[in-house]
Amino acid sequence: MVKAIVGANWGDEGKGKITDMLAENADIVIRFQGGSNAGHTIKNKYGKFALHMLPSGIFSERTTCVLGNGVALNIPKLIEEINSLVEQGVPEPKLLVSDRAHIVMPYHILLDGYEEARLAGKAFGSTKSGIAPCYSDKYAKIGFQVKELFMDEQALRERVENVCVIKNTLIEHLYHQPALVPEEIFQTLLEYREMIRPYVADTALYLHKALKEGKEILLEGQLGTMKDMDHGIYPMVTSSNTLSGFGGPGAGIPPYEIKQVIAVTKAYSSSVGGGDFVSEIFGDEAEELRRRGGDGGEYGATTHRPRRVGWYDCVASRYGCMLQGATDVALTVLDPLGYLDEIPLCVGYEKDGEVIQDMPHTTELMHCKPVYKMMKGWKCDITGIRKFEDLPIECQEYVNEIERQLGYPITFVSNGPAREDIIYRTPLI
Ligand code: GDP
Ligand code: MG
Repeated sequence: MVKAIVGANWGDEGKGKITDMLAENADIVIRFQGGSNAGHTIKNKYGKFALHMLPSGIFSERTTCVLGNGVALNIPKLIEEINSLVEQGVPEPKLLVSDRAHIVMPYHILLDGYEEARLAGKAFGSTKSGIAPCYSDKYAKIGFQVKELFMDEQALRERVENVCVIKNTLIEHLYHQPALVPEEIFQTLLEYREMIRPYVADTALYLHKALKEGKEILLEGQLGTMKDMDHGIYPMVTSSNTLSGFGGPGAGIPPYEIKQVIAVTKAYSSSVGGGDFVSEIFGDEAEELRRRGGDGGEYGATTHRPRRVGWYDCVASRYGCMLQGATDVALTVLDPLGYLDEIPLCVGYEKDGEVIQDMPHTTELMHCKPVYKMMKGWKCDITGIRKFEDLPIECQEYVNEIERQLGYPITFVSNGPAREDIIYRTPLI
Protein backbone atom coordinates (compact mmCIF):
# COMPACT_ATOMS: atom_id res chain seq x y z
CA MET A 1 0.00 0.00 0.00
CA VAL A 2 1.25 3.49 -0.81
CA LYS A 3 0.65 6.44 1.52
CA ALA A 4 1.65 9.98 0.62
CA ILE A 5 2.75 12.48 3.25
CA VAL A 6 2.47 15.93 1.76
CA GLY A 7 2.17 19.58 2.76
CA ALA A 8 -1.16 21.43 2.72
CA ASN A 9 0.42 24.87 3.23
CA TRP A 10 3.62 26.67 2.25
CA GLY A 11 5.98 23.92 3.42
CA ASP A 12 7.64 23.34 6.80
CA GLU A 13 4.44 21.85 8.19
CA GLY A 14 6.29 19.00 9.90
CA LYS A 15 6.20 16.42 7.11
CA GLY A 16 9.65 15.16 8.12
CA LYS A 17 8.48 14.34 11.62
CA ILE A 18 5.34 12.55 10.42
CA THR A 19 7.35 10.62 7.79
CA ASP A 20 10.01 9.61 10.33
CA MET A 21 7.23 8.41 12.64
CA LEU A 22 5.41 6.37 9.97
CA ALA A 23 8.68 5.06 8.52
CA GLU A 24 9.05 2.79 11.54
CA ASN A 25 6.49 0.54 9.86
CA ALA A 26 7.38 1.23 6.24
CA ASP A 27 9.49 -0.86 3.87
CA ILE A 28 10.22 2.00 1.48
CA VAL A 29 10.21 5.81 1.71
CA ILE A 30 10.43 7.78 -1.54
CA ARG A 31 11.15 11.41 -2.32
CA PHE A 32 9.44 12.13 -5.63
CA GLN A 33 10.12 15.83 -6.27
CA GLY A 34 12.25 18.78 -5.19
CA GLY A 35 15.87 18.84 -4.25
CA SER A 36 18.21 19.95 -1.54
CA ASN A 37 16.44 23.32 -1.29
CA ALA A 38 14.10 22.32 1.50
CA GLY A 39 14.78 21.05 4.96
CA HIS A 40 12.99 18.45 7.02
CA THR A 41 13.84 18.51 10.69
CA ILE A 42 13.77 15.27 12.61
CA LYS A 43 14.32 14.51 16.26
CA ASN A 44 14.72 10.88 17.28
CA LYS A 45 16.95 8.53 19.30
CA TYR A 46 20.00 9.42 17.17
CA GLY A 47 19.70 13.16 17.76
CA LYS A 48 18.36 16.15 15.85
CA PHE A 49 18.87 16.32 12.09
CA ALA A 50 18.00 18.65 9.22
CA LEU A 51 17.66 16.54 6.09
CA HIS A 52 17.84 18.20 2.69
CA MET A 53 18.27 15.53 0.06
CA LEU A 54 17.62 12.26 1.88
CA PRO A 55 14.13 10.89 2.54
CA SER A 56 13.01 11.10 6.16
CA GLY A 57 12.82 7.28 6.35
CA ILE A 58 16.59 7.16 6.55
CA PHE A 59 16.59 6.51 10.31
CA SER A 60 14.47 3.38 10.13
CA GLU A 61 16.58 0.24 9.80
CA ARG A 62 13.89 -1.76 8.02
CA THR A 63 13.35 0.95 5.42
CA THR A 64 14.89 1.35 1.99
CA CYS A 65 14.95 4.99 0.91
CA VAL A 66 14.46 5.96 -2.70
CA LEU A 67 15.25 9.19 -4.50
CA GLY A 68 12.80 9.01 -7.37
CA ASN A 69 13.13 10.24 -10.94
CA GLY A 70 11.19 13.41 -10.09
CA VAL A 71 13.92 14.67 -7.77
CA ALA A 72 16.56 17.29 -8.62
CA LEU A 73 19.64 15.44 -7.43
CA ASN A 74 22.55 17.30 -5.88
CA ILE A 75 25.15 14.53 -5.78
CA PRO A 76 27.85 16.12 -3.57
CA LYS A 77 25.18 17.34 -1.11
CA LEU A 78 23.69 13.85 -0.94
CA ILE A 79 27.04 12.21 -0.22
CA GLU A 80 27.88 14.87 2.36
CA GLU A 81 24.55 14.24 4.06
CA ILE A 82 25.04 10.46 4.14
CA ASN A 83 28.55 10.86 5.59
CA SER A 84 27.40 13.27 8.25
CA LEU A 85 24.61 10.91 9.39
CA VAL A 86 26.99 7.95 9.58
CA GLU A 87 29.46 10.07 11.57
CA GLN A 88 26.65 10.81 14.03
CA GLY A 89 25.98 7.12 14.63
CA VAL A 90 23.07 6.51 12.24
CA PRO A 91 23.38 3.07 10.56
CA GLU A 92 24.58 3.13 6.92
CA PRO A 93 21.41 3.91 4.95
CA LYS A 94 19.80 1.60 2.43
CA LEU A 95 19.43 4.03 -0.44
CA LEU A 96 18.49 3.76 -4.10
CA VAL A 97 18.72 6.63 -6.55
CA SER A 98 16.69 6.62 -9.74
CA ASP A 99 18.77 6.30 -12.89
CA ARG A 100 16.35 8.84 -14.39
CA ALA A 101 16.70 11.56 -11.72
CA HIS A 102 18.01 14.85 -13.05
CA ILE A 103 21.40 16.02 -11.83
CA VAL A 104 21.86 19.47 -10.37
CA MET A 105 24.90 20.65 -12.31
CA PRO A 106 27.50 23.07 -10.90
CA TYR A 107 26.31 25.74 -13.37
CA HIS A 108 22.72 25.39 -12.14
CA ILE A 109 23.84 26.62 -8.76
CA LEU A 110 25.89 29.43 -10.33
CA LEU A 111 23.00 30.52 -12.55
CA ASP A 112 20.56 30.51 -9.64
CA GLY A 113 22.84 32.88 -7.76
CA TYR A 114 23.49 35.11 -10.80
CA GLU A 115 19.77 35.44 -11.48
CA GLU A 116 18.90 36.30 -7.88
CA ALA A 117 21.64 38.93 -7.95
CA ARG A 118 20.34 40.34 -11.24
CA LEU A 119 16.80 40.57 -9.86
CA ALA A 120 18.15 42.16 -6.69
CA GLY A 121 15.19 43.47 -4.64
CA LYS A 122 12.68 41.71 -6.89
CA ALA A 123 14.17 38.27 -6.29
CA PHE A 124 12.06 35.17 -5.66
CA GLY A 125 13.84 34.33 -2.44
CA SER A 126 15.46 31.31 -4.03
CA THR A 127 17.66 29.17 -1.82
CA LYS A 128 20.20 29.32 -4.69
CA SER A 129 20.46 25.53 -4.75
CA GLY A 130 20.11 25.39 -8.52
CA ILE A 131 16.65 23.84 -8.46
CA ALA A 132 14.87 26.16 -10.90
CA PRO A 133 17.70 26.00 -13.50
CA CYS A 134 17.84 22.20 -13.12
CA TYR A 135 14.12 21.73 -13.73
CA SER A 136 14.15 24.32 -16.54
CA ASP A 137 16.84 22.31 -18.31
CA LYS A 138 14.91 19.10 -17.73
CA TYR A 139 11.91 20.53 -19.56
CA ALA A 140 14.10 22.15 -22.21
CA LYS A 141 15.62 18.68 -22.70
CA ILE A 142 19.17 19.80 -22.03
CA GLY A 143 19.42 18.24 -18.56
CA PHE A 144 21.38 15.18 -17.50
CA GLN A 145 19.76 12.07 -16.08
CA VAL A 146 21.86 10.04 -13.63
CA LYS A 147 22.25 7.13 -16.04
CA GLU A 148 23.85 9.41 -18.61
CA LEU A 149 26.93 9.58 -16.38
CA PHE A 150 27.51 5.94 -17.27
CA MET A 151 27.21 6.31 -21.04
CA ASP A 152 30.02 6.46 -23.54
CA GLU A 153 32.44 9.13 -22.29
CA GLN A 154 32.91 10.79 -25.65
CA ALA A 155 29.15 11.13 -26.08
CA LEU A 156 28.85 12.61 -22.60
CA ARG A 157 31.65 15.07 -23.32
CA GLU A 158 29.85 16.22 -26.46
CA ARG A 159 26.60 16.69 -24.58
CA VAL A 160 28.43 18.84 -22.03
CA GLU A 161 30.08 20.93 -24.75
CA ASN A 162 26.74 21.54 -26.38
CA VAL A 163 25.03 22.67 -23.22
CA CYS A 164 27.95 24.93 -22.33
CA VAL A 165 27.45 26.87 -25.55
CA ILE A 166 23.93 27.76 -24.43
CA LYS A 167 24.89 28.46 -20.83
CA ASN A 168 27.90 30.57 -21.74
CA THR A 169 25.79 32.86 -23.89
CA LEU A 170 23.77 33.73 -20.82
CA ILE A 171 26.71 33.76 -18.44
CA GLU A 172 28.86 36.08 -20.54
CA HIS A 173 26.25 38.36 -22.08
CA LEU A 174 23.53 38.59 -19.45
CA TYR A 175 25.41 38.08 -16.21
CA HIS A 176 28.90 39.21 -17.32
CA GLN A 177 30.54 36.34 -15.46
CA PRO A 178 33.42 34.00 -16.43
CA ALA A 179 32.50 31.40 -19.04
CA LEU A 180 32.17 27.70 -18.16
CA VAL A 181 34.98 25.42 -19.26
CA PRO A 182 33.35 22.28 -20.72
CA GLU A 183 36.27 20.00 -19.82
CA GLU A 184 36.03 21.03 -16.16
CA ILE A 185 32.31 20.23 -16.11
CA PHE A 186 33.00 16.90 -17.78
CA GLN A 187 35.63 16.01 -15.15
CA THR A 188 33.19 16.97 -12.37
CA LEU A 189 30.62 14.64 -13.90
CA LEU A 190 33.13 11.79 -13.81
CA GLU A 191 33.58 12.48 -10.09
CA TYR A 192 29.79 12.53 -9.63
CA ARG A 193 29.60 9.18 -11.44
CA GLU A 194 31.86 7.51 -8.88
CA MET A 195 30.07 9.14 -5.95
CA ILE A 196 26.62 7.99 -7.04
CA ARG A 197 27.56 4.59 -8.49
CA PRO A 198 26.69 2.47 -5.40
CA TYR A 199 23.14 3.80 -5.28
CA VAL A 200 21.94 3.90 -8.89
CA ALA A 201 18.99 1.68 -9.79
CA ASP A 202 15.97 1.38 -12.01
CA THR A 203 13.78 2.47 -9.11
CA ALA A 204 10.50 2.32 -11.04
CA LEU A 205 11.11 -1.38 -11.66
CA TYR A 206 12.12 -1.88 -8.04
CA LEU A 207 8.93 -0.19 -6.85
CA HIS A 208 6.71 -2.20 -9.17
CA LYS A 209 8.15 -5.40 -7.71
CA ALA A 210 7.70 -4.04 -4.19
CA LEU A 211 4.06 -3.23 -4.93
CA LYS A 212 3.47 -6.77 -6.16
CA GLU A 213 4.93 -8.08 -2.92
CA GLY A 214 2.54 -5.90 -0.92
CA LYS A 215 5.23 -3.73 0.64
CA GLU A 216 4.37 -0.71 2.78
CA ILE A 217 5.49 2.38 0.85
CA LEU A 218 5.55 6.07 1.81
CA LEU A 219 5.83 8.99 -0.58
CA GLU A 220 7.34 12.03 1.10
CA GLY A 221 6.50 15.41 -0.37
CA GLN A 222 8.67 18.48 -0.17
CA LEU A 223 7.13 21.92 0.47
CA GLY A 224 3.33 22.22 0.19
CA THR A 225 0.35 22.98 -2.03
CA MET A 226 0.94 26.73 -2.04
CA LYS A 227 4.40 26.14 -3.54
CA ASP A 228 3.17 23.77 -6.24
CA MET A 229 4.25 24.78 -9.72
CA ASP A 230 0.71 24.68 -11.13
CA HIS A 231 -1.66 25.18 -8.21
CA GLY A 232 0.47 27.29 -5.90
CA ILE A 233 1.09 31.03 -5.70
CA TYR A 234 2.86 31.21 -9.07
CA PRO A 235 5.48 32.56 -9.67
CA MET A 236 6.47 32.44 -5.98
CA VAL A 237 6.46 28.66 -6.15
CA THR A 238 9.00 25.90 -6.36
CA SER A 239 9.96 24.42 -9.72
CA SER A 240 8.27 21.05 -9.24
CA ASN A 241 4.84 19.71 -8.35
CA THR A 242 4.40 19.27 -4.63
CA LEU A 243 1.05 17.48 -4.94
CA SER A 244 0.53 13.86 -3.96
CA GLY A 245 -0.68 13.11 -7.48
CA PHE A 246 2.80 13.78 -8.75
CA GLY A 247 3.95 10.81 -6.67
CA GLY A 248 2.90 8.69 -9.65
CA PRO A 249 5.16 10.18 -12.34
CA GLY A 250 7.78 11.38 -9.81
CA ALA A 251 8.37 7.88 -8.49
CA GLY A 252 7.23 5.81 -11.44
CA ILE A 253 4.26 4.12 -9.76
CA PRO A 254 0.65 3.86 -10.94
CA PRO A 255 -1.51 6.68 -9.53
CA TYR A 256 -4.17 4.27 -8.25
CA GLU A 257 -1.66 2.68 -5.87
CA ILE A 258 -1.74 5.79 -3.64
CA LYS A 259 -4.43 4.76 -1.17
CA GLN A 260 -3.90 7.28 1.59
CA VAL A 261 -2.92 10.94 1.40
CA ILE A 262 -1.90 12.50 4.70
CA ALA A 263 -1.99 16.28 4.29
CA VAL A 264 0.21 17.87 6.91
CA THR A 265 -0.88 21.29 8.14
CA LYS A 266 0.61 23.38 10.92
CA ALA A 267 -1.56 24.87 13.70
CA TYR A 268 -0.42 28.37 12.62
CA SER A 269 1.07 29.52 9.32
CA SER A 270 4.62 30.05 8.16
CA SER A 271 6.13 30.75 4.79
CA VAL A 272 9.59 31.20 3.37
CA GLY A 273 10.32 33.44 0.41
CA GLY A 274 8.02 35.89 -1.32
CA GLY A 275 4.33 35.82 -2.20
CA ASP A 276 1.12 37.14 -0.70
CA PHE A 277 0.20 35.51 2.57
CA VAL A 278 -3.17 36.76 3.81
CA SER A 279 -3.02 35.88 7.51
CA GLU A 280 0.59 37.04 7.93
CA ILE A 281 1.36 38.97 11.12
CA PHE A 282 4.14 41.44 11.80
CA GLY A 283 6.05 43.22 14.55
CA ASP A 284 6.18 41.99 18.13
CA GLU A 285 3.21 39.68 17.68
CA ALA A 286 5.03 37.90 14.85
CA GLU A 287 8.36 37.87 16.65
CA GLU A 288 6.83 36.13 19.65
CA LEU A 289 5.15 33.42 17.51
CA ARG A 290 8.36 32.97 15.48
CA ARG A 291 10.45 32.60 18.62
CA ARG A 292 8.06 30.10 20.22
CA GLY A 293 7.13 28.22 17.03
CA GLY A 294 8.45 24.90 15.74
CA ASP A 295 11.29 23.37 17.66
CA GLY A 296 13.45 26.29 18.73
CA GLY A 297 11.80 28.91 16.55
CA GLU A 298 10.61 29.31 12.98
CA TYR A 299 13.93 29.61 11.18
CA GLY A 300 14.68 27.76 7.94
CA ALA A 301 16.36 24.35 8.23
CA THR A 302 18.34 25.03 5.04
CA THR A 303 18.79 28.78 5.01
CA HIS A 304 18.30 29.72 8.71
CA ARG A 305 16.23 32.60 7.38
CA PRO A 306 13.48 33.77 9.75
CA ARG A 307 10.23 32.35 8.40
CA ARG A 308 7.27 34.66 7.84
CA VAL A 309 4.52 33.70 10.28
CA GLY A 310 0.79 34.20 10.71
CA TRP A 311 -2.38 32.69 12.11
CA TYR A 312 -3.89 29.46 10.84
CA ASP A 313 -5.49 30.03 7.45
CA CYS A 314 -8.53 27.80 6.91
CA VAL A 315 -9.07 29.14 3.38
CA ALA A 316 -5.57 28.30 2.16
CA SER A 317 -5.43 25.03 4.11
CA ARG A 318 -8.78 23.78 2.77
CA TYR A 319 -7.51 24.53 -0.72
CA GLY A 320 -4.26 22.77 0.23
CA CYS A 321 -6.10 19.63 1.38
CA MET A 322 -8.39 19.68 -1.65
CA LEU A 323 -5.54 19.78 -4.17
CA GLN A 324 -3.62 17.14 -2.27
CA GLY A 325 -6.68 14.90 -2.22
CA ALA A 326 -6.37 14.48 1.54
CA THR A 327 -7.82 11.32 3.04
CA ASP A 328 -6.32 12.30 6.40
CA VAL A 329 -5.00 15.47 7.96
CA ALA A 330 -2.10 15.70 10.40
CA LEU A 331 -2.34 18.90 12.43
CA THR A 332 1.14 19.67 13.74
CA VAL A 333 2.98 22.07 16.03
CA LEU A 334 -0.02 22.72 18.23
CA ASP A 335 1.99 22.96 21.45
CA PRO A 336 3.67 26.37 20.90
CA LEU A 337 0.26 28.12 20.90
CA GLY A 338 -0.20 27.54 24.65
CA TYR A 339 0.92 31.10 25.48
CA LEU A 340 -2.05 32.84 23.87
CA ASP A 341 -5.22 34.07 25.63
CA GLU A 342 -7.06 34.05 22.34
CA ILE A 343 -6.06 32.53 19.02
CA PRO A 344 -7.25 34.13 15.78
CA LEU A 345 -8.36 31.61 13.15
CA CYS A 346 -8.60 32.94 9.61
CA VAL A 347 -11.96 31.57 8.41
CA GLY A 348 -12.50 33.71 5.32
CA TYR A 349 -11.03 36.46 3.17
CA GLU A 350 -12.61 39.83 2.70
CA LYS A 351 -12.31 40.82 -0.94
CA ASP A 352 -14.02 43.85 -2.48
CA GLY A 353 -16.35 44.09 0.53
CA GLU A 354 -17.39 40.46 0.27
CA VAL A 355 -16.35 37.50 2.43
CA ILE A 356 -15.06 34.58 0.39
CA GLN A 357 -14.26 31.06 1.53
CA ASP A 358 -12.54 29.70 -1.56
CA MET A 359 -8.92 30.43 -2.34
CA PRO A 360 -8.78 33.10 -5.04
CA HIS A 361 -6.22 33.26 -7.84
CA THR A 362 -2.78 34.46 -6.78
CA THR A 363 -3.24 37.82 -8.50
CA GLU A 364 -6.22 38.53 -6.24
CA LEU A 365 -4.57 37.58 -2.95
CA MET A 366 -3.12 41.05 -2.45
CA HIS A 367 -6.65 42.43 -2.33
CA CYS A 368 -7.74 40.03 0.41
CA LYS A 369 -7.88 40.72 4.12
CA PRO A 370 -8.21 37.98 6.73
CA VAL A 371 -11.53 37.45 8.51
CA TYR A 372 -10.82 36.07 11.95
CA LYS A 373 -12.81 33.95 14.34
CA MET A 374 -11.35 34.24 17.83
CA MET A 375 -10.75 30.95 19.60
CA LYS A 376 -10.08 30.62 23.33
CA GLY A 377 -6.49 29.80 24.26
CA TRP A 378 -5.68 26.95 26.65
CA LYS A 379 -2.83 28.67 28.46
CA CYS A 380 -0.81 25.62 29.41
CA ASP A 381 1.81 23.20 28.14
CA ILE A 382 0.23 20.29 26.25
CA THR A 383 3.43 18.38 25.47
CA GLY A 384 3.44 14.83 26.76
CA ILE A 385 -0.35 14.38 26.41
CA ARG A 386 -1.13 11.22 24.42
CA LYS A 387 -4.94 11.18 24.26
CA PHE A 388 -7.11 13.72 22.50
CA GLU A 389 -9.64 13.80 25.35
CA ASP A 390 -6.85 14.66 27.81
CA LEU A 391 -6.13 17.92 25.99
CA PRO A 392 -7.65 21.05 27.57
CA ILE A 393 -11.16 21.56 26.24
CA GLU A 394 -10.18 24.86 24.54
CA CYS A 395 -7.42 23.05 22.70
CA GLN A 396 -9.80 20.26 21.60
CA GLU A 397 -12.19 22.94 20.38
CA TYR A 398 -9.40 24.64 18.37
CA VAL A 399 -8.68 21.34 16.61
CA ASN A 400 -12.38 20.52 16.14
CA GLU A 401 -13.06 23.96 14.64
CA ILE A 402 -10.15 23.61 12.20
CA GLU A 403 -11.54 20.23 11.17
CA ARG A 404 -15.03 21.71 10.64
CA GLN A 405 -13.57 24.55 8.60
CA LEU A 406 -11.42 22.23 6.48
CA GLY A 407 -14.02 19.56 5.93
CA TYR A 408 -11.23 16.95 6.01
CA PRO A 409 -10.67 14.48 8.87
CA ILE A 410 -7.89 15.28 11.34
CA THR A 411 -6.53 11.90 12.38
CA PHE A 412 -3.15 12.95 13.81
CA VAL A 413 -2.38 15.79 16.19
CA SER A 414 1.29 16.49 16.82
CA ASN A 415 2.17 18.16 20.12
CA GLY A 416 5.95 18.12 20.11
CA PRO A 417 8.87 17.63 17.72
CA ALA A 418 9.78 14.10 18.81
CA ARG A 419 8.59 10.90 17.15
CA GLU A 420 6.45 9.92 20.15
CA ASP A 421 4.74 13.33 20.47
CA ILE A 422 1.64 12.26 18.60
CA ILE A 423 -2.07 11.90 19.36
CA TYR A 424 -4.23 9.61 17.24
CA ARG A 425 -7.65 11.21 16.97
CA THR A 426 -11.03 9.94 15.88
CA PRO A 427 -12.36 12.49 13.41
CA LEU A 428 -15.74 14.10 14.05
CA ILE A 429 -16.58 14.38 10.38
P1 GDP B 1 8.91 19.92 6.91
O1 GDP B 1 9.69 20.70 5.90
O2 GDP B 1 7.45 19.87 6.59
O3 GDP B 1 9.46 18.56 7.17
O4 GDP B 1 9.00 20.74 8.28
P2 GDP B 1 10.32 21.37 8.96
O5 GDP B 1 11.07 20.27 9.61
O6 GDP B 1 11.06 22.24 8.02
O7 GDP B 1 9.67 22.35 10.02
C1 GDP B 1 8.86 21.90 11.05
C2 GDP B 1 9.52 22.26 12.40
O8 GDP B 1 8.61 21.99 13.44
C3 GDP B 1 10.74 21.45 12.73
O9 GDP B 1 11.64 22.22 13.47
C4 GDP B 1 10.20 20.29 13.56
O10 GDP B 1 11.15 19.74 14.46
C5 GDP B 1 9.13 20.99 14.32
N1 GDP B 1 7.98 20.19 14.69
C6 GDP B 1 7.31 19.23 13.98
N2 GDP B 1 6.20 18.84 14.65
C7 GDP B 1 6.18 19.57 15.80
C8 GDP B 1 5.26 19.67 16.88
O11 GDP B 1 4.23 19.03 16.93
N3 GDP B 1 5.57 20.57 17.87
C9 GDP B 1 6.69 21.34 17.84
N4 GDP B 1 6.91 22.19 18.84
N5 GDP B 1 7.56 21.30 16.81
C10 GDP B 1 7.30 20.43 15.81
MG1 MG C 1 11.06 22.23 5.86
